[in-house]
Amino acid sequence: MNIPTVSAPSVAIHDSDARFPVRRIFCVGQNYAEHAREMGGDPERQQPFFFSKPADAVVPSGATIPFPGRTEDLHHEVELVIALAGGGADVAVDAAERLIFGCAVGVDLTRRDLQAVAKKAGRPWDMAKGFDRSAPIGAILPGAVPERAAAITLDVNGDRRQSGVLADMIWAPAEIIAILSTYVRLAPGDLIFTGTPAGVGRLERGDAVAAAVAGLPALTFDLA
Ligand code: MN
Repeated sequence: MNIPTVSAPSVAIHDSDARFPVRRIFCVGQNYAEHAREMGGDPERQQPFFFSKPADAVVPSGATIPFPGRTEDLHHEVELVIALAGGGADVAVDAAERLIFGCAVGVDLTRRDLQAVAKKAGRPWDMAKGFDRSAPIGAILPGAVPERAAAITLDVNGDRRQSGVLADMIWAPAEIIAILSTYVRLAPGDLIFTGTPAGVGRLERGDAVAAAVAGLPALTFDLA
């Protein structure tokens, strides 16, 4: 038996032929107050919580994604994604932004029905959040995080479904990096999905999704 060849996942870099290699994907739960409330959570500034997606869940902009199995309630969550060029454990907040390679727009696709079952049963979220092609992501724009006033939006078939500004985040990118680095040692190639504003909702077969953060390359995808 031959040893299999496995390709490393990567993400496009804006205006470059180079690719950003993906090591791990971390996600923050309920980082916008209105979304925390719509999920039945408490938007008080409690410590953020984290979950993961597999690195090969990334899907480039422009893709047509086969509708995932095992769900009748696939949800969209538009998010600012931070791509790390550096890492470390126990990173200080004021050192965190120096680890950032750039930012992108991502969608944290969620099988909400499976997540609801998992929450109720106290089971892991992996199959609700970390399934195949669950992390569509646009090209990474190298540089700093967009300004706090930047709009973050998601349209389905031309209708606005989610709308917020980055300033609505309960935990800022530097704080997220610092806190996450107390749980795991961060490293170059890590992506961090930083949470979604209110308005999450169901996607259907055939839907066309357009996600945006002002100043970053747009993300579009279709569901087959
Ligand atoms: Mn999310």
